[in-house]
Amino acid sequence: MQNIDWGSLGFKYMDTRCHVRYVWRDGKWDQGEMVEEPFFKMHIAAACLHYGQAAFEGLKAFRCKDGSLRVFRPRENARRMALTARRLCMAEVSEDLFLDAIKRVIRANEEYVPPYGTGGSLYVRPLLIGSGEQIGVAPAREYTFIVLVVPVGAYYKGGLQPVKALIYDDFDRAAPLGVGNVKAAGNYASSLYAHEKAKKEGYPVELYLDAREHKYVEEFATSNFIGITRDNRYVTPASRSILPSVTNETLKTLAADMGLKVEVRQVPFEELAELAEVAACGTAVVVTPVNEIRRGETVIRIGESGSGCGPVLQKLYETVQGIQYGEIPDRYGWCYEV
Ligand SMILES: *Cc1c(COP(=O)(O)O)cnc(C)c1O
Repeated sequence: MQNIDWGSLGFKYMDTRCHVRYVWRDGKWDQGEMVEEPFFKMHIAAACLHYGQAAFEGLKAFRCKDGSLRVFRPRENARRMALTARRLCMAEVSEDLFLDAIKRVIRANEEYVPPYGTGGSLYVRPLLIGSGEQIGVAPAREYTFIVLVVPVGAYYKGGLQPVKALIYDDFDRAAPLGVGNVKAAGNYASSLYAHEKAKKEGYPVELYLDAREHKYVEEFATSNFIGITRDNRYVTPASRSILPSVTNETLKTLAADMGLKVEVRQVPFEELAELAEVAACGTAVVVTPVNEIRRGETVIRIGESGSGCGPVLQKLYETVQGIQYGEIPDRYGWCYEV
């Protein structure tokens, strides 16, 4: 393996020792194999290539304080991938197979898990694709389930850095009754255009409103929306076109433990101006504080200082990381030892 400078790792692809790959044919999954080369030979008419039968997941493994290797809430990702598979008419991966697969690939790549104290982790990427040939529009008859891993660094090197968010009124992420609530690869393809445009305008993230009326906040392109009110309530939108984030679930539980009232409900656009703290949440970074939201000519500034992270989000962030690295007791059994 190459010498890794753990301190300078970002969030980008790197070859590791191997990935694990399973194939589903005639109604069942095979035993799976460890594959060293990061390439995959596939039929040119594979359903994933033409018709978008592709689902993915993202989770992390941590080298903990006591030296153990633990994955954060993998069962939640297994269940969510099964929901995505069902929605896209794909072969489902059982929870047991999912857990076995991540265990195998993490153990085989143990030397790529960043050491405790570096702030890094091993990003685990399960991918399920319709790999069978299919030219008439129908579900594929063969599926491939791959789990690959990539070591990633601490996202924030000098404390939580707030970013600006942009709301577009001429792009939507997900149709009201579409596939926004599952982790379909196509959701990302369809949000890239607005994302690149927002980046060029100086906004690292874009926030979507509900596609039907553009009245209620939904989520960011790749992360859920959370807000903290001035009277200490944790607010996150309810909508059937939002992807149910494991991080959001985790934060809701921890917020309730901290004495905050948790509200999952419609969040009208107008309410943004009243929030004390806002963040995007997801596995990759846990929370990204947002200090400004622009929609056309309207600019909303969030929080007092506008420059740092609010105290509630800061505390939530530290608690999640503390549990993930085994520094804080795992009261809910979220960590899964591999
Ligand atoms: C993956 C994803 C998230 C974050 O989910 P986590 O389980 O917290 O990583 C949020 N929104 C969208 C659209 C996503 O695809």
